Amino acid sequence: MKNKVVIVGAGPAGLYSSYLLLKKGYRVELYDQSTACGKKFLVAGNGGLNLTHSEELTSFSTRYGKDQDLFSEIIGEFTPQDLRDFCLELGVETFVGSSGRVFPKELKAAQILKNWIDHLKASEDFELFLRHELIELHPSKELTFKFKEEVVQAIGDVVVLAMGGASWKRTGSDGKWKAQLEKLGVEVKPFLPMNCGFECDWSEHFISTVDRAPIKNVGIKFQDRVHRGEIMITPFGIEGGGIYAVSNIIRDNIIEFGHATVSLDLKPDLSLEQVLSKLKNKKAKDSLSNHLRKSLGIGKVENTLLKEILPKDAYTDLSTLAQAIKDLKVDFKRTRPIEEAISTSGGIAFNELDQHFQIKKLAGFYAVGEMLDFEAPTGGYLLQGCFSTAARMVRGI
Ligand SMILES: Cc1cc2nc3c(=O)[nH]c(=O)nc-3n(C[C@H](O)[C@H](O)[C@H](O)COP(=O)(O)OP(=O)(O)OC[C@H]3O[C@@H](n4cnc5c(N)ncnc54)[C@H](O)[C@@H]3O)c2cc1C
Repeated sequence: MKNKVVIVGAGPAGLYSSYLLLKKGYRVELYDQSTACGKKFLVAGNGGLNLTHSEELTSFSTRYGKDQDLFSEIIGEFTPQDLRDFCLELGVETFVGSSGRVFPKELKAAQILKNWIDHLKASEDFELFLRHELIELHPSKELTFKFKEEVVQAIGDVVVLAMGGASWKRTGSDGKWKAQLEKLGVEVKPFLPMNCGFECDWSEHFISTVDRAPIKNVGIKFQDRVHRGEIMITPFGIEGGGIYAVSNIIRDNIIEFGHATVSLDLKPDLSLEQVLSKLKNKKAKDSLSNHLRKSLGIGKVENTLLKEILPKDAYTDLSTLAQAIKDLKVDFKRTRPIEEAISTSGGIAFNELDQHFQIKKLAGFYAVGEMLDFEAPTGGYLLQGCFSTAARMVRGI
């Protein structure tokens, strides 16, 4: 009789663990509290599923900050190319976009997910249990689930936990597992929003003027980190890919000091001198707004933002205005709620795990994916992290 692995969580980490463990000759029972597998993975595909990144391992691993040494090892073992090969095995081609990011050809997640689940279901050693909410873990590897109004038990020779982080609860990732593990003495670092938006205390006038509007190609500088990307101005503050990349250090600064002053460069391809010289070419008949648009391509949203931040006399002083276009200091007050964040940092502390992510205090229990206490920016680093942790874990079973 084959050994049985019980996996909880049917996101990419749990699904990839299922795939590998079946291949390794185990029976797999996969449980999830949702009505379908991979709901967050599907959401991730809405704006183009960024599976991984094509950059060199040395810079790739730096994206994992404090955990870069560990991730350098595990991504070296299961690489971005391995992830692309896996997609191909599922019949889905991938491509490298101009930014180096890797996407499936169709951009969405649905095709990968469907082929993946079909592949698992084709195995007679695989069983899927949806709408099963894990409510208790026992060190004996017995698990208690709530299914409709019933209580159901499952027991495995090995248990794999892949219950994700604590954002986008409607996809099933509610982070309730934290209390269950803490009850058994396992240290779980507090969840914090990562890749998140921020709130600014805009004036009433600004809130009534600006709806949601993107500003492309902005230089974002905070502490020693500089990033370039698109930001989204909203009535509550600022969000978008450009901000997500530096969101962890902004968040930590807000936690420590109550706010964070972030510098935005609205014209990162021009020097201060070039901006000033263009501003000085203003014709008398042009309004300043018109001139900003014509000479520098500064549109309505950027202009409203400049007027919001600068005192009136500073806005009309061309040297100060040029300085602000290159270095607009925006005060970020709060993170947006964790629910909205693309990912969460926090999770099971690495010192609670052995090298194959077995929980030291719970022999036979392993944990993978976003449940672990790592953080990474968007760009495919999150999914690559989930796949690579699953691959390392399975090698250890
Ligand atoms: C809007 C958005 C866009 C994103 N875009 C990208 C992207 O382009 N690239 C990228 O790399 N990453 C992206 N991500 C992040 C990525 O989707 C996640 O990091 C990834 O899904 C985490 O995988 P996981 O398997 O660890 O957890 P999850 O995908 O969160 O899956 C966890 C599963 O566990 C189940 N579960 C939880 N608790 C229980 C319980 N008690 N009982 C039973 N089941 C339970 C949940 O129902 C869920 O199905 C995006 C996320 C969001 C929200």
